[in-house]
Amino acid sequence: APRPPTPHVAMLVTPGMGHLIPLAELAKRLAAHHGVTATLVTFASTASATQRAFLASLPPAITSLSLPPVDLSDLPQDAAIETLMSEECARSVPALTEILTELKSSKRLVAFVADLFGADSFDAAVAAGVPKRCLFFPTNLHGLTLILNLPKLHESIPGEFKDMAEPLRLPGCVPIPGPDVLSPLQDKSNPSYKWMVHHGARYREAHAILVNSFDAVEPDAAAALRAPEPGRPTVHNIGPLTQTREGSTVGGGPREACLEWLDRQPAKSVVFVSFGSGGALPAEQMRELALGLELSGQRFLWVVRSPSDEGAVNANYYDAESKKDPLAYLPEGFVERTKDTGLVIPSWAPQIKVLAHESTGGFLVHCGWNSVLESLVHGVPMVAWPLYAEQRQNAVMMSTEGGVGVAIRVPETKRKEEIAEAVREMMVGQGKGALVRAKVAELQKAALEGLCEGGAAAAALAEVVHTWTGEDK
Ligand code: UDP
Repeated sequence: APRPPTPHVAMLVTPGMGHLIPLAELAKRLAAHHGVTATLVTFASTASATQRAFLASLPPAITSLSLPPVDLSDLPQDAAIETLMSEECARSVPALTEILTELKSSKRLVAFVADLFGADSFDAAVAAGVPKRCLFFPTNLHGLTLILNLPKLHESIPGEFKDMAEPLRLPGCVPIPGPDVLSPLQDKSNPSYKWMVHHGARYREAHAILVNSFDAVEPDAAAALRAPEPGRPTVHNIGPLTQTREGSTVGGGPREACLEWLDRQPAKSVVFVSFGSGGALPAEQMRELALGLELSGQRFLWVVRSPSDEGAVNANYYDAESKKDPLAYLPEGFVERTKDTGLVIPSWAPQIKVLAHESTGGFLVHCGWNSVLESLVHGVPMVAWPLYAEQRQNAVMMSTEGGVGVAIRVPETKRKEEIAEAVREMMVGQGKGALVRAKVAELQKAALEGLCEGGAAAAALAEVVHTWTGEDK
């Protein structure tokens, strides 16, 4: 019989490199291991240079196209990013329906994959008659469990999360103190709250939910979600899907200067400091961090952004390049004093290459989930300094008693002495630091094994593909 045409999936990427990078990685795995090609559909609002360079670097089995711009000018100036992304998605349904209809007429379109703010795009998949709808959840099972439970929690918790007397307890999850619960839920009068509840309800319309996590990092949550529940899609732990070194041409040159600097440092001696694609600190914290790094006596490589007081805390989210010269905000004389032990670089680093470098021994991280996974895959212990979104919740799971123990959390007061202490303990400490380093080494092994042929993550993805194509591969 003639071979059926190559199966194809369409994926909708809501804004942010933290969404694009893991979805592209999923597309690469589908192409390399399952013979499935993909179209990544992006939003016009995120056509930054960083994103364009990234899309251009993908293999030919993965094509991309952008939705036309939608008018969001009626939304308030201070609308939360979750609101912006959700609105942009909802308003793009007609254009997306056209794109999917067109793809379906020219290819064997077996599935549509949305990511965490894209649940409304399921309407487009239904209208276009795409056989399977999936949700790709780029963070972890703790985050997914929370969002899936939101419609219920909305009924049972009348006040604000931050005012709860007891931590939030969810099946299989580390208890989360109210103030650390997902930031868009922290003010119920803000539209971002209603959007998240809405997504939680709509996630149930997916045929399957693919999560970028792995069992060893949250075993109890994995067990809880594996137990079938009527009306809830099956959950597949397909991670950690992280950027590969070959694929990360973002940031350009043949070999970036910061990697050459790393080449000259001793093995495992450098703390990498970065707050993700959008994070920036208030000026005061930026100062304490500089002084804390200096005080720690450890070598460091710091990706510096202009302080958040110059804009919103996530001002760089839609565009990874800082608007002003961020080095101008460092304490007087800092760069000169630390020139033998530290390097500061503005805005963006080839993070995956830095984490893979043998000189890197620790990561002071904002707890964005991609960064956490990248750190684990490379066996790098962490200091947790969460900023927004689900980062505080991740920090709880990573660093508190009963959690997985892969990080030391910097206290809220963020004093330079506290920062120095956390950094030193992670790098060379014999107490908590030693435990963290051992746990990270163990998880690195589990993560890599899962992705090998026959491993848990590889099997989970194969299972999903089977439901799309009916073929075993
Ligand atoms: N990233 C990078 N260089 C930077 C900052 C970020 O390559 O200077 C990459 C990082 O490796 C990760 C992604 O951008 O893959 C950030 O995702 P994450 O979930 O950690 O945080 P977010 O940016 O969503 O806050």
